[in-house]
Amino acid sequence: MSLTFRTDLFIGGQWRPASNGARFPVLDPANGEVIEQVADASPEDGQDALRAADAAQREWAATAPRVRAEILRRAFEIVTARADEFAETITREMGKPLAEARAEVKYGAEFLRWFSEEAPRISGRYSTAPDAGSRLLVLRRPVGPCLFITPWNFPLAMATRKIAPALAAGCTSILKPAAQTPLTALLFAEVLQQAGVPAGVVNVIPTQQAGAVTGPLIGSDKLRKLSFTGSTAVGKQLIKSAADQVLRVSMELGGNAPFIVFEDADLDAAVEGALVAKLRNGGEACVAANRILVHESVAERFSTALTERMGKNVAGHGLDTRTTIGPLIDKGTRDKVNDLVVEAVADGATVTVGGTVPDGEGWFYPPTVLVDVPSTSRILKEEIFGPVAPIITFSSEQEAVDLANATEYGLVCFAYTRDLDRTLRLAESLETGMLGINTGIVSNPAAPFGGVKQSGIGREGGFEGIDEYLETVYVGIAGPSAPK
Ligand code: NAD
Repeated sequence: MSLTFRTDLFIGGQWRPASNGARFPVLDPANGEVIEQVADASPEDGQDALRAADAAQREWAATAPRVRAEILRRAFEIVTARADEFAETITREMGKPLAEARAEVKYGAEFLRWFSEEAPRISGRYSTAPDAGSRLLVLRRPVGPCLFITPWNFPLAMATRKIAPALAAGCTSILKPAAQTPLTALLFAEVLQQAGVPAGVVNVIPTQQAGAVTGPLIGSDKLRKLSFTGSTAVGKQLIKSAADQVLRVSMELGGNAPFIVFEDADLDAAVEGALVAKLRNGGEACVAANRILVHESVAERFSTALTERMGKNVAGHGLDTRTTIGPLIDKGTRDKVNDLVVEAVADGATVTVGGTVPDGEGWFYPPTVLVDVPSTSRILKEEIFGPVAPIITFSSEQEAVDLANATEYGLVCFAYTRDLDRTLRLAESLETGMLGINTGIVSNPAAPFGGVKQSGIGREGGFEGIDEYLETVYVGIAGPSAPK
């Protein structure tokens, strides 16, 4: 594939090389080939990006909401028109099959459309104080320049989920994409420029030195907000660094999603749902089903069916249309997945399909099902981030809820049941930011995405998504005097 877009830094509306001329390679995880060399931002480039965002902030905040909305709408239309180019770029640098990359482009673009519709609806309120002595005016203003740090697993959607609401609210930003997947972010920067985003309003700085470049920005009093999507370990460090400036933070962190199959579930639907919840993005998703909890009365039927379906996948390069599962992102990720499986087997689990690292190029790992996994096994405690489904059984609803909640994470739970009372009990007792009932996928631009406990702070998407980029300002006004 020959790239049609720029691979330099995008700062202040200009495409320019890194100040020290450095570049770094972007690799295809299916074969290790270098796709492209990308400019490698230095800490000085980071400072330039913050200066550009700061300089553009006042004018962007004063731009009419309708104008901001129309720019976002144009960006949605351009991403949609260039969907094939986006999908191919995502597949090349991240590895997911083309059909899934297309689904990400659709999902990612939808945030631009959703927030184009929200931009003109930012409102405040006016009320009378309880003693009628004054009037309370509450308005909402853009928070100011934001820093966005995104992961490699959804290179477009993780960027649009932050940039779209920020633009809608009137905030400027700097995006630091993951070093594994900077190409999609650069293509998106080009789209924003085409759509009419003014110079400096969005800046994109790929770098291999994430900490060295973002640290000084987080420490600067010019920055007003940090939004991070990535691992809980890095998120915790960033929250600590953000404390010095009491910076507003949004954190979309790791998950350990339980996928619960109750005895009254439609079992065929549950198997289909588990496949989606487990294999979407090759399991490299924060919302991936990490622990499959199945009622003991249906466990054998469920495991047999899931094993059969998991075994039917075709591994290969994502651009090959026969491929249903691509490689993992890198060697470290594959080694971790394999180690978790090896350890679970040593603990007493049984592999019913998959479970071995294949020979050959690329970071492939086969869809794998584990049964009889002991509850103490590490694979049930950590985010697997690969196509491995550990199954454990339960005998009562309370036991299922207790098992589901026995984790420091709280991003999403999935449950299959036909009982409405049970659904309501689950909604009120599971420690989670999101709950999918009879579905293996909850992500929706119109819904508030985010976690509780160590899965994060804040929400992206929905009506709530724009709140992350707005400050509340209260004005107390003396009550009117009687007419003369
Ligand atoms: P990661 O934490 O290693 O990296 C995420 C981003 O942080 C990358 O851009 C990376 O370059 C940057 N980074 C790393 N160290 C940094 C530092 N010291 N200072 C500043 N930036 C730093 O995560 P990853 O491996 O890229 O992504 C996978 C993780 O992301 C998983 O844990 C997954 O659950 C999580 N994730 C969460 C959500 C969500 O919405 N909750 C969505 C997608 C992914």
